[in-house]
Formats: sequence, C-alpha cells, structure tokens
Amino acid sequence: MNFRHLTLAERLDFTRGGTEQLTRHLAELRDDEVAEQSVLPGWTRAHLVAHVGYNAAALCRLTDWAATGIETPMYDSVEQRGREIDDGAGDSVQVLRDRVGDTARLLDEKWHSLSESAWSREVRTIQGRTVPASETIWMRAREVWIHAVDLGNGARFSEIPDPVLRSLVDDVIKAWRNNGLGSGLTLQISEEEPISIDPDRGRDNQVSISGDLAAVVQWITGRGAEGVTGLPDGVDAPRWL
Ligand code: ZN
Repeated sequence: MNFRHLTLAERLDFTRGGTEQLTRHLAELRDDEVAEQSVLPGWTRAHLVAHVGYNAAALCRLTDWAATGIETPMYDSVEQRGREIDDGAGDSVQVLRDRVGDTARLLDEKWHSLSESAWSREVRTIQGRTVPASETIWMRAREVWIHAVDLGNGARFSEIPDPVLRSLVDDVIKAWRNNGLGSGLTLQISEEEPISIDPDRGRDNQVSISGDLAAVVQWITGRGAEGVTGLPDGVDAPRWL
C-alpha cells in the first residue's frame, strides 16, 4: 500500500505520527547535543531542526495559497531557503524547539480547515512542480519521518510506516529515472519482484541491491548501507533530492 492510495484522514494521521517521532527524539536531546553534527553532511542538528520548522512554515504558505487562491510561494528562492536555514541554526535551542512545535501545529490546523475543493487546487513547489494542495501532506510526511532519523539519536527507518516507505521508493526511482541516474541498479526488496531502474538495459551489467523495505529505502535515500547486500565497495546511492 502506497501513501497516495490512503484516504486523506489516513495520510494526515501518518504525517502526525512522523511529527511525533521527530518531536520525541528532539525532546530527548540535551541543548548542547543540538549543536552537534546530524546524520546529514555539513549540517548540525540545529540546521536540521531549523529546516524542519521552516519547512512547515513553507507548507503553510502553500496551504494558504490553496485556501485563498493568492499565490504565496514556499520560499522566495533556493538561496533564500538556504540562508534562512543557516541563520536559523544560530537561534537559541529554545527558539529552534518552539519553532518546530508551533509551525507543525499551525500546519495541522490549516490542513484541517481546508475545504474539500481547496485540496485539489494547484500550487507550485520550490522545485517548480505544480501539484494539488493535497501533495503537501506527502511533502511533510517524508520530511518528518526521514529527518527524525537524521537527528541521529535513535530513530530508525524500520519504524517508518510501510506506505511511507513504499512512496519513498516511488519518489526516488522517479527522480533517478528523470535524471538518468542509477541505470545499472536493480532493487531487490525482500522476496518481491525486482525493480530495475532502467529496464531497457541488459541484465548482465546490473548491480542488484537487496534488503528489506526499510533497509533499501535507507540506502536509496543516501542514509547508509546498513542491512543491504550486493553493494560493491564504495558505491553510494545516486542523489535523489
Ligand atoms: Zn528536508
């Protein structure tokens, strides 16, 4: 079952679960630990926490856009988004914590007051994709579930619900195919039908990466090879974002 096949209420529930996962792990960190390195190269946990808060604020703007019809972009530009995270990482830990909580609550309220017709109104993401407002739920779900792991204090891919993991597989493969990446790879998730990134390519030159769903998603999202087999030494997953 893919995230997109769930009802709106179920999608909101899974997303709230991700927010709780992230909030719980953030609460377990002491203030001095928030300044330490996250799982993401070049980002401290403070950068990550600033980003998660600003991401919810950006998705609030898309939700407002859908509600009012007045164009309010996620960010002014990619540069502004980056600057905001760098500046935000310098805020006090209390400000960082409060922003994550406040913006998540606000986003949830905005989603719950959106009219049925507004959910299908089109808005534009920072990548320039035009999507229905309902896509903001998925955009948030993947952020909170993955970034909880990126805090690096115990959250795991195996705790992410299956529909979220399945949709991550779809997203990553689509991004790789669009960018001509990973053409020699086949993903073997447990005993399922193998997924070839480039089915036109002959079977001979394929590298088959095997693991359970959570392990394969961890690898394809660039978060490490724990639990996957078949990986030649030093081979990293192509970038997907
Ligand atoms: Zn993110």
